[in-house]
Amino acid sequence: MIIRTLNTIAIMCEGELLTPEATDIKIKGVVTDSRKITPDCLFIPLSGENFEGHQFGAAALAAGAAGLLWQRDKGPAPEGAVIAVEDTLRALQLLSSAYLNQIGPQVVAITGSNGKTTTKDIVTSLLETQFKVHKTQGNFNNHIGLPLTLLSMNEDTEIAVLEMGMSSRGEIALLTALGNPDIAVITNVGESHLLQLGSRKEIARAKLEITGGLKAGGLLVYNGDEPLLAEVLAEGSLSAPKEMKTFRFGLNADNDDYPTGIMTHVGGMTFTSHCHGDHAFTLPLPGRHNVINSLAALAVARHFGVNEENIEAGLRNLKLTGMRIEVITTPSGFTLLNDAYNASPTSMKAAIDVLQTMKGSGMKIAVLGDMLELGPDETKFHEEIGSYLDPDKTDLIFTYGRLSEHLAQAAEKNFGSERVFSFTDKTELTNLLITKSNPKDILLFKASRGMRMEEVLQSLIAHD
Ligand code: ATP
Ligand code: MG
Repeated sequence: MIIRTLNTIAIMCEGELLTPEATDIKIKGVVTDSRKITPDCLFIPLSGENFEGHQFGAAALAAGAAGLLWQRDKGPAPEGAVIAVEDTLRALQLLSSAYLNQIGPQVVAITGSNGKTTTKDIVTSLLETQFKVHKTQGNFNNHIGLPLTLLSMNEDTEIAVLEMGMSSRGEIALLTALGNPDIAVITNVGESHLLQLGSRKEIARAKLEITGGLKAGGLLVYNGDEPLLAEVLAEGSLSAPKEMKTFRFGLNADNDDYPTGIMTHVGGMTFTSHCHGDHAFTLPLPGRHNVINSLAALAVARHFGVNEENIEAGLRNLKLTGMRIEVITTPSGFTLLNDAYNASPTSMKAAIDVLQTMKGSGMKIAVLGDMLELGPDETKFHEEIGSYLDPDKTDLIFTYGRLSEHLAQAAEKNFGSERVFSFTDKTELTNLLITKSNPKDILLFKASRGMRMEEVLQSLIAHD
């Protein structure tokens, strides 16, 4: 984490130390949440829609913070070691990029509609076999999370792996300018945030903003199965460095790397990658989409010279951030696929693929809830998922939420009404699910975050 004197901090964040006697006080780490003050931290109060961090400035100092940033238009600063700035959010960002520049690790930036966190975790696991790596914790991928990620980095970090998230244009441009990556990765272009952005091409354009912060001669690793990325790249309208190199991964054999022999096993997948000669890998994660995420990670690892043996070991020892297709086996023998963390049409299909290709002697049951924030075509997206479900590979469908009624109606055309159950009440859904399911069944749970589908899963576990 960042350890600097207040004098240095003031220079790094373009602020003014109001208390000269505090010049040599050293801060250890940066905190923006007043409830999480650590000894000797620098407290940076932020102003949000629902909160005003400046209210807690004095309390933060009293609780042990070594210093405080203070936005000038927030009235008189509290007594103590204070650095005045025009805008605390901007100061946080400036501080983080100054710190990054001082330490000078190589940087990998990862964006995309789905698979950012997973790919970040895979990339890290591969790089850690040979380097000191710092990665985004959890989902700290926005204009506040990314600076905090950088500031929590140790001085001896050799490679930083940063997740960059967005919901509208311009957000990735800001993040990539802060991170100044050597390699940028775009996992895919889905439909998340269609409401805000209008079309999938605009989403592709927003993801490609990541090239704007690439270092000269930097590498863009992107999903070659997505024609929109190539289209926007060909337009030449991006502010990418001229000497940018590119690497395409995906299922199609015309990509720089593509998988063959994809097989689903109990504990995950096997596949062969082709770009460094043919090489077979075992991946302890379910789903073809994770094979694709792995290809992106392989490209990054190989770029840094990680050898194939270490890549194999890195894949084998993978540890993921929670709630992304977590496989839970209950005492009585149900297999529960917990993907309730979030959902969009692309990730919904990916999760259904996982359910439908899993082997087992019981039934396969899809428990699916609404996908939110999809814009005017939301009904159509839900119907598409209903038609996507294969009546030969899934036995029963349970839906939760108003939008999912469209999913259920579309599914009924192939499944018939006796295999599809639609609810707007979680308790009713859970009760019928308990009645209809048996040990040995495999159940998938997936919906947008706002639907809190994990509650159904938890009730089921409690009943087991
Ligand atoms: P967020 O925007 O919430 O940070 P994320 O991009 O970090 O999401 P992950 O958390 O890695 O994505 O994965 C979320 C879900 O998306 C997974 O559980 C899986 O169902 C799906 N998913 C992951 N990778 C892909 C992919 N390459 N293509 C389609 N779906 C994917
Ligand atoms: Mg994420």
